[in-house]
Amino acid sequence: MAIFVYAENINGVYKKAAFEAVSYAKSIADKMGDTVTAVSVNPTDASDALYKYGANNVINIKDEGLKNFSAKAYAQAVNEVATGNIIVFPHTTDASSIAPMLAIMKDSSLITNVLETPENLSPFQVKRRAFSGKGFMHAKADAPAVIVTVSQNAFGVKENPVSGSEEIKNLTISNEDTKVISHEQSSGKLDLKEAEVVVSAGRGMKGPENWGMVEDLANTLGAATACSKPVSDIGWRPHTEHVGQTGKAISPNLYIAIGISGAIQHLAGVNSSKTIVVINNDPEAPFFKSADYGVVGDAFEIIPALTQKIKALKG
Ligand SMILES: Cc1cc2nc3c(=O)[nH]c(=O)nc-3n(C[C@H](O)[C@H](O)[C@H](O)COP(=O)(O)OP(=O)(O)OC[C@H]3O[C@@H](n4cnc5c(N)ncnc54)[C@H](O)[C@@H]3O)c2cc1C
Repeated sequence: MAIFVYAENINGVYKKAAFEAVSYAKSIADKMGDTVTAVSVNPTDASDALYKYGANNVINIKDEGLKNFSAKAYAQAVNEVATGNIIVFPHTTDASSIAPMLAIMKDSSLITNVLETPENLSPFQVKRRAFSGKGFMHAKADAPAVIVTVSQNAFGVKENPVSGSEEIKNLTISNEDTKVISHEQSSGKLDLKEAEVVVSAGRGMKGPENWGMVEDLANTLGAATACSKPVSDIGWRPHTEHVGQTGKAISPNLYIAIGISGAIQHLAGVNSSKTIVVINNDPEAPFFKSADYGVVGDAFEIIPALTQKIKALKG
């Protein structure tokens, strides 16, 4: 029985998280001598994009009724086609709301935020992130079927090209209970949760008029921008940039925190970042305790100097 994986797309275009989930499913399939079947809803991207990471089969669900996202309707659609005992999802906002619904429909175990290929397949046991990223645990599935969500940027995107095949599945799922009233588009050029580098700033920036230098640094690094909660609460930045316990949880390879004190609620959303660089003029700022690299100094001097240095190195 194939390993199934939900390949999330946004406006038809596969997300990096989809490639990571396919790579993860492929690692399980290799362990089991099995194949990978990817499932996607209304993609416009060619299936080749998924064959590249090891998907042997791609089932493209076509359903006009699923144009707007609804966790329930999407779970029903995936449930129609994903018949295997192991189903992999990326731990994106949408997919991590589909996965629990599907787990109920299939009466299967659900293990979220997994970090590595399972230690054991029968019973299924795997390392997962716990306590808002402050710790790990080893979770064991007690049902014969298991659904996992893969923590973003943890396993990585791994090329593993196979020659795959595609199947179109026309469905008409009822999606009556979801109506989109308004839609807030993230202002940044990059999806914050997918970004490998994030430049984030807090109240230490003093006001929205000073964000030009933060964006300049982010553009130079090809990074997404983020902010602390008070900054979005007072309207200096859009809510889509708010990271932390009550905002987005991210795990980029590099997180640069500028003028952010490092309160526990902020750390809860960013402490899974692989490398943390803190820039703060207070040497006692709590964030330094979680930093891999720290710069004590005035952000208004350091950011332009850092940007200039990186531009020079790149140029
Ligand atoms: C239930 C709950 C949930 C919460 N959820 C979140 C959340 O999800 N995300 C979140 O971020 N917060 C959250 N908070 C708020 C959190 O507790 C902190 O208040 C908040 O993170 C502080 O934001 P800040 O670091 O930007 O501001 P401040 O705490 O005001 O820190 C500003 C920092 O900038 C430094 N600074 C000042 N001037 C300069 C300069 N010129 N150069 C360099 N550094 C400078 C200061 O030394 C200071 O460390 C939550 C709080 C509660 C109670």
